[in-house]
Amino acid sequence: MKSSHATPGTTASPETCPAARRHSPQPRPDLPELDRLERLLAQASGELRVQVLANVTDGASEYPLYALQLGNPDPAAAVLLLSGGIHGVERIGTQLLLTQLEALMARLPWDQGLQEDLRHIRIVICPLLNPAGMARGSRANANGIDLMRNAPQNADDPGVWLLSGHRIGAWLPWYRGAPGLPMQAESAALCELVNREIAGAPLCLSLDCHSGFGMRDRLWFPYAGSTRPLEQLADVHALVKLYEEANPHHRYLFEPQCHQYRTHGDLWDHLYQQHLLRQQACPGRPAVFLPLTLELGSWLWVRKNLRQIISFRGLFNPLVPHRHRRIMRHHNSLFDFMIRATRSWQSWLPGEADRNTEQQQALQRWYRNSQ
Ligand SMILES: [Zn+2]
Repeated sequence: MKSSHATPGTTASPETCPAARRHSPQPRPDLPELDRLERLLAQASGELRVQVLANVTDGASEYPLYALQLGNPDPAAAVLLLSGGIHGVERIGTQLLLTQLEALMARLPWDQGLQEDLRHIRIVICPLLNPAGMARGSRANANGIDLMRNAPQNADDPGVWLLSGHRIGAWLPWYRGAPGLPMQAESAALCELVNREIAGAPLCLSLDCHSGFGMRDRLWFPYAGSTRPLEQLADVHALVKLYEEANPHHRYLFEPQCHQYRTHGDLWDHLYQQHLLRQQACPGRPAVFLPLTLELGSWLWVRKNLRQIISFRGLFNPLVPHRHRRIMRHHNSLFDFMIRATRSWQSWLPGEADRNTEQQQALQRWYRNSQ
């Protein structure tokens, strides 16, 4: 079972997807999330711009990687980037994004506030980044590679053996791929998209949706491979403070990912490093990139329904309909906040006078034990 690598000739270049080509011609296994997405695309108005970043195959079927855009196409516009399904078994993240996308499309014809927001910002959505893995019900892609361990960099301070990513073989979970190979088509497509979309943006917030860890819903920021503070920590702190003041009864746990586990090859660490390199090359044009990961606390669902523990899928997804519905509506305020924070970035991003205060508060909150 093979999927295409990010080598010339095997990865499709991004293309605008006209309505006639929106349906993959190949028969494929039951994948309701991709069917739901393609139904939405077939009905969507012209305001939703559709690209196929690449096509991946598991040897039997071919799957498109869709990137959807709403709002201002100007490269200098602020960007909100939403992604999910990079771990195929974590279907709930893709379902959450599809629900949000359907809601946005339903609001767009009448919601003047949203219309105004989209005149200023661009929302980029990749709801299903590992369709071959999702069709197989696996975390990895069709090559057995964990895409969130697939970037080339090693962790400064790797965590638990195997879990942090390894190069032993695809028969073990958390496999990074063989050394020296280019990134997988799915990882490369995401990185290319993000680098392209944020290269000229003064601000990009991103939210990558996952599930499968912990009793609480967490919002992680880099680094996953290092315990050192993020370079734009002051900005992260300002954003978190903004959210907490606006949502005093929220139940998210904000923290750097390294507080829970550390990994090699994290794509968001990699993309953040590329962002910093762009900043060094272009110091006169400061830009902020804050990549967040929403890690849905699936252990709580397992505790409330022990039948889930005997199902691999149940370790990552709610199996009870009312809990599924609750998750679908529980995060509305977060997505709404992300849109507003992207739209109004000039109002909350700390200026020079406030940066040191934000930085000190952030260090005290998240890195007290490592100082
Ligand atoms: Zn995940």
